[in-house]
Amino acid sequence: MATAVVPRVFKNYINGEWLESASGRAFENRNPADNDELVGMFPSSTAEDVDAAVDAAAEAFKSWRLVPAPKRAEILYRAAETLVRRKEDLAQDMTREMGKPLAETRGDVQEAIDMTYYMAGEGRRLFGQTTPSELRNKFAMTVRQPLGVCAMITPWNFPMAIPSWKIMPALICGNTVVIKPAQDTPLSTYSLAHILTEAGLPRGVVNVVNGSGPEVGASLIHRQGVSAVSFTGSTEVGRLVNEACAPTFKPCHLEMGGKNILIIMDDANLELAVEGAVWAGFGTTGQRCTAASRVAVHHKVYHQFVEKFVARAKSLRVGNGLDAETEMGPCINEAQLQKVMEYVEIGRNEGAHLAAGGHHLTAGAWSRGWFHEPTVFTGCTPQMRIAQEEIFGPVVAVMPVENFDQAVEVANGVVYGLSASIYTRDVNRAFQAMRDLHTGIVYVNAPTIGAEVHLPFGGTKQTGNGHREAGSAAIEFYSEWKTLYLDYSDRLQRAQMES
Ligand code: NAD
Repeated sequence: MATAVVPRVFKNYINGEWLESASGRAFENRNPADNDELVGMFPSSTAEDVDAAVDAAAEAFKSWRLVPAPKRAEILYRAAETLVRRKEDLAQDMTREMGKPLAETRGDVQEAIDMTYYMAGEGRRLFGQTTPSELRNKFAMTVRQPLGVCAMITPWNFPMAIPSWKIMPALICGNTVVIKPAQDTPLSTYSLAHILTEAGLPRGVVNVVNGSGPEVGASLIHRQGVSAVSFTGSTEVGRLVNEACAPTFKPCHLEMGGKNILIIMDDANLELAVEGAVWAGFGTTGQRCTAASRVAVHHKVYHQFVEKFVARAKSLRVGNGLDAETEMGPCINEAQLQKVMEYVEIGRNEGAHLAAGGHHLTAGAWSRGWFHEPTVFTGCTPQMRIAQEEIFGPVVAVMPVENFDQAVEVANGVVYGLSASIYTRDVNRAFQAMRDLHTGIVYVNAPTIGAEVHLPFGGTKQTGNGHREAGSAAIEFYSEWKTLYLDYSDRLQRAQMES
């Protein structure tokens, strides 16, 4: 007799306790490569749960802000060590909930490890300035202050890396946290919270509330008592976050959509450029904010590039990310797959040439997941929708360009500005590109993906709102300056009025 498999049930984490949602309802987290596999059940939370989490974080802030930063760092170091020890399990879990191949989920956990160690190191820096006062017997300096309760809303494509990019700098600066992970990938944030707790994080310092964007996310960004919001996701939702924060001038950090480009010049190492285009276009099934969904190729090497790129795209092995042979996993969910299919239709109708892929994969084991072929459109023009709009799937638009100037014009001719790359051996061209590409990140002779945690990460135009994640830039967002003057003259000294 078959025994029913009881799904694992996960809870919210509020004030150091694992709690059901006030609603009593739950949602499913299923494997996008195999919909028969239920990864777990997570609470469908409500505004009431958000209230409890924000109150807990506000209470915990009173004591956490007073813990010396090097002591906060000790907790982060311990958490990083656990992440290292558990890396393989965490990567397996992540592949089951998110779909990307194991090599990539190992990289995602590694990014969380790197960020945790990096921010732990910041615990002994967090430098301010001392500077001479313009007055005698007066001392002037600056210190960093935490902001308070930081709300975080994260997407599903980097289930552990992105939460760690927000949580770790917030904590080291002395803030407390309420995080709402994406509904498609709640397990990785659950594990991260568990690891931080095991490492000795006091109750209430990190709180996790699961649930939908319109319910939990919206409550969080409007909730009084939240001092700052950090959001990564689509530009549409980012705009809502921005609007919600505006009336009370709440600092908000937005990392949003992208339409990144590879420029391939006629002097490029073509083999290298093809490998870069394959990795940037189809790595993570094209579901990276830095994925290159546009390739502009100098007309002199256009046909050569297209031939090689199309052949490589066609050869990619699509499948379950747990299988060591798999090079590209599924789309995250049915809606994302539908969106990809709609854009394939749009591309065809716009007159682009479908050179590779274009189909939903339904045979055999693929039928249990949201698989789509790696897809290449050639002969695209810069104004086509497939060359302008973020698809967030395995679809790449290739277009010929006459020269470097046109390539830069095409690159900058979109509303987004996250990442761009140029393949060239001409050092002058490389420097011109670094100067003229209007994106937050530029690569030379490397694909548009590959951020490292100690450098700022973020985009221009409708990709970001001027803040940056990672590196010392993250410390800038999660702290604010306090300027201190100490007068030891024992008399009233008036700035700008003493002779
Ligand atoms: P999304 O905007 O749909 O969701 C992001 C998060 O916002 C989720 O947790 C979601 O539940 C929440 N949300 C949805 N509606 C909300 C609302 N009304 N109020 C508050 N929160 C709400 O994005 P996604 O589909 O999870 O991720 C894909 C998008 O994320 C792409 O546009 C991609 O470019 C972007 N992204 C950007 C970066 C970056 O660093 N620039 C990194 C990764 C992903």
